Amino acid sequence: MLPFKLVYSDAYYLPIGTHIFPAEKYRMVASCLREKGIAAEDNFHHPQPAEDRDVLLVHGEYYVHKLRTGTLTAREELEMEIPFSDELVNAFWLNAGGSILAARQSLGDGISFNLGGGFHHAFPDHGEGFCMINDVAIAIRSLQREKLVGRAMVVDCDVHQGNGTAVIFGRRPQAAEAENHGKPAVTRDQFAWMRESAEPPGEVFTVSLHQENNYPVWKPPSSIDVNFVDGTEDQPYLDWLARALDAAFTNFKPELIAYVAGADPYREDQLGGLNLTIDGLRRRDELVLRAARDRRIPVFVTLAGGYARNVEDTVAIHCNTVASAGAIYSSSHSK
Ligand SMILES: [Zn+2]
Repeated sequence: MLPFKLVYSDAYYLPIGTHIFPAEKYRMVASCLREKGIAAEDNFHHPQPAEDRDVLLVHGEYYVHKLRTGTLTAREELEMEIPFSDELVNAFWLNAGGSILAARQSLGDGISFNLGGGFHHAFPDHGEGFCMINDVAIAIRSLQREKLVGRAMVVDCDVHQGNGTAVIFGRRPQAAEAENHGKPAVTRDQFAWMRESAEPPGEVFTVSLHQENNYPVWKPPSSIDVNFVDGTEDQPYLDWLARALDAAFTNFKPELIAYVAGADPYREDQLGGLNLTIDGLRRRDELVLRAARDRRIPVFVTLAGGYARNVEDTVAIHCNTVASAGAIYSSSHSK
């Protein structure tokens, strides 16, 4: 049995009809973990929906009111790229509650998963890119409000930049600070370029590794952004990930890590243009999880994107993340 909890509910399913977003993947991941004997029934924890006061730590009152009353404009609904319904609101609130629970759970167990969430394109005042509210930011802010943690780090390995998260935790006013603290540091090779913000970090340090030539077109600065060229393969990706993590932990000592483990850097992804294999993604997970475990920093994991031609591949990638964590955290217990 896994030495940690998996937060999950069948009601994570997003009622969005036929859509490139495979809403059935959540149920499939949970089934796959049970069927393969990776997780036992006792590992699963049921979430409660987030409370509005948690959601309001990240999102504006006006936006939350519009979601609660179903009064988004047509343009706002279009930008979200998923059809609005009250049931969809409930599913997002439940996913956010799941991330809060997983984050809390990780403080005791060292790691926990929300087998949902990772909606990193949601901004304080609007949703976009299949994301209504930013569960990752809500979970961090919620634990901070309860004074369970202070400093937190987001490590976002979805193929798309974590634009909502970058804005939520970005420091203000950015222009003035840029003047005061100089230019960001930039390093590059033929596969990627990395931008490290020159601003002193705030309470939350954000790291995003993503394909440069992909959504979102406007990439608001994270604390560290790694922009990959199209078609980047396993080894250069892993080398840059190691470099980015080194730079992040040199600059910042978090008390909690949010790992956004998107499956869409996969070579067969329909919305991604990187060239990672399933094995490469497994090694990516191991790198991030070992970095957290070796430093004894609690980590909570969310699934985020994954649009492989065969949904089974997306499911396999997500299940591998859980299996890798099982191996890494079981061995640390026996030491
Ligand atoms: Zn994505």
